[in-house]
Amino acid sequence: MTELWDTIIIGAGVSAYGAAMYAGRFEIKTLMIGELPGGTIVNTDDVANYPGFKMITGMDLADKLREHAEEYNITQKNGRVVKVEKTGDCFTVSTNDESFKGKTVIFATGTEWRKLGVPGEKEFTGKGVHYCALCDGAFYKEKVAALVGGSDSAAKDALLLAKYAKKVYIIYRKENIRAEPINKRRVEQSDKIEVIPNTNVLEIKGDKFVNKVILDKEYNGSTEFPIEGLFIDIGHIALSGLAKDLGVALNKKGEIIVDRHGFTNMEGVFAAGDVIDTDFKQAITGVAEGVTAAFNVYNYVEKADVKCFDP
Ligand SMILES: Cc1cc2nc3c(=O)[nH]c(=O)nc-3n(C[C@H](O)[C@H](O)[C@H](O)COP(=O)(O)OP(=O)(O)OC[C@H]3O[C@@H](n4cnc5c(N)ncnc54)[C@H](O)[C@@H]3O)c2cc1C
Repeated sequence: MTELWDTIIIGAGVSAYGAAMYAGRFEIKTLMIGELPGGTIVNTDDVANYPGFKMITGMDLADKLREHAEEYNITQKNGRVVKVEKTGDCFTVSTNDESFKGKTVIFATGTEWRKLGVPGEKEFTGKGVHYCALCDGAFYKEKVAALVGGSDSAAKDALLLAKYAKKVYIIYRKENIRAEPINKRRVEQSDKIEVIPNTNVLEIKGDKFVNKVILDKEYNGSTEFPIEGLFIDIGHIALSGLAKDLGVALNKKGEIIVDRHGFTNMEGVFAAGDVIDTDFKQAITGVAEGVTAAFNVYNYVEKADVKCFDP
């Protein structure tokens, strides 16, 4: 007979670790399946807002959360979930190689980088077009790089790039970047960073590698703007496709709708972290949502008379 898990957590980011740690403490039979260990937070080396740590790298924070979860009796598998189906009151969660059966599922699948959607982006990805400053910023030592975006993470990425590049341009579609005040000040005070406001990138051009972008308005007398690298930092899209296919309700942005207990519209299906319909997406909020979901999974499996059947 197929092994039955009380909960299957899909994801391996901070929200999944928070959920796994609490599920383990509640001694419910827990399987966690995730593709990229640590998730998004490992893309920053400068986490200064996770309570309890004045400063920690994203990788260290993820490692600490994982190690804490591993203090309890949880099972982890590395892999990509390709399908989640309802089987009676239960769920079958499949990777390309294996299938697992759970009484409940917690989606902690996070997000992926939003694409700019302009000509040249796909062609030059990895050849001057990047999405992760921490991963690829060091290639731009003493070079000229630009970054599209105006969020707090865009500001932090521009500051990181400025450690390597001789010049960093922030190309932003609005007048003022909307970073946290402390990061905005650091950007303004940097003599390497210059903001080009109210401007969009229309096209990315190059030879083997990027050598310029085309702007929608003139800068220094031309719409052709020479650069050596372009970092696209315009946010993320919720990875909610598996949940959608299962019948879970999403909002207009494609995020999973949950109540404050982490319940979705489907009985036995919970969600937490960047994939859910919250405005504030941070490591600490994701961990807390994972913990909340695990607590309510525990209550649910204790009370509900969940019946599975083998199809
Ligand atoms: C550049 C940058 C800087 C940031 N800085 C900070 C900061 O300083 N402080 C802060 O609090 N927050 C920061 N954040 C936000 C923070 O990183 C996120 O809020 C948090 O990491 C979200 O965690 P998550 O677990 O919900 O999702 P994610 O970290 O996106 O993790 C999702 C996980 O699910 C897995 N997954 C997805 N689909 C599948 C599938 N089909 N099968 C198996 N696994 C799957 C992924 O591989 C991944 O492991 C920053 C974000 C960025 C981009």
